[in-house]
Amino acid sequence: MRLDKYICKSTELSRNEAKKLLKSGKVTLNGAVEKVPTVKVAETDRVAIEGFNLSVRDTRYIMMYKPLDTICSNKDELYPSILNFLDIDKAFDLNIAGRLDADTTGLVLLTDDGVWMHNIISPKKLCPKRYRVWLDEPLVADAEESFKRGIQLRGENQLTKPATLERISDSEVLLTIIEGKYHQVKRMFAALGNHVNALHREQIGEIVLDIDLEPGEWRALTEQEIASVS
Ligand code: URA
Repeated sequence: MRLDKYICKSTELSRNEAKKLLKSGKVTLNGAVEKVPTVKVAETDRVAIEGFNLSVRDTRYIMMYKPLDTICSNKDELYPSILNFLDIDKAFDLNIAGRLDADTTGLVLLTDDGVWMHNIISPKKLCPKRYRVWLDEPLVADAEESFKRGIQLRGENQLTKPATLERISDSEVLLTIIEGKYHQVKRMFAALGNHVNALHREQIGEIVLDIDLEPGEWRALTEQEIASVS
């Protein structure tokens, strides 16, 4: 890891502040003053600021219950970002592994581990996501078959990948999809002539939204949950 990034990860400093600090000569690498931000730091190296040793913050893995009217973005826009709910250092540096629309609620995973996140969002990984869907109209009789075969979405040239539909009632279903096209769930039901009134994500891979979390609450993932993504 670059020295400036190492300093950012182990302090509250921004990349620019870390560079300024380096320039000032207050940083040592294995006991010797180091001013070059691009110098590579190995795990065994000792980095210190004015004699105080740094240690890199652990990688973070978090689940959040996304409330209605919030956005999965690293900045506030029309609605506030879900990152405002995280009362932790540098929350806005976290990556959101699979975004939800402003009017969708439920499970969101956040991390600063790029490889772990890739295993969730890469189309090649076919990571299943389960949604609870409330519909405007009663669901057509053969919807299960249509979803299994694949749906032709407007503006796409390939059918959606096989999806599993479980009917709770004619207007409430559980849908599991293994891809993540833009507004995919809403567009799938629109292709059947229906409309999604409310959408809630319950599960990503093997990670299920914790029933003890209220909208806007979050918790760190367990070791088992982290390891379930590969
Ligand atoms: N599909 C949608 O249409 N919206 C979401 O937020 C997630 C999946």
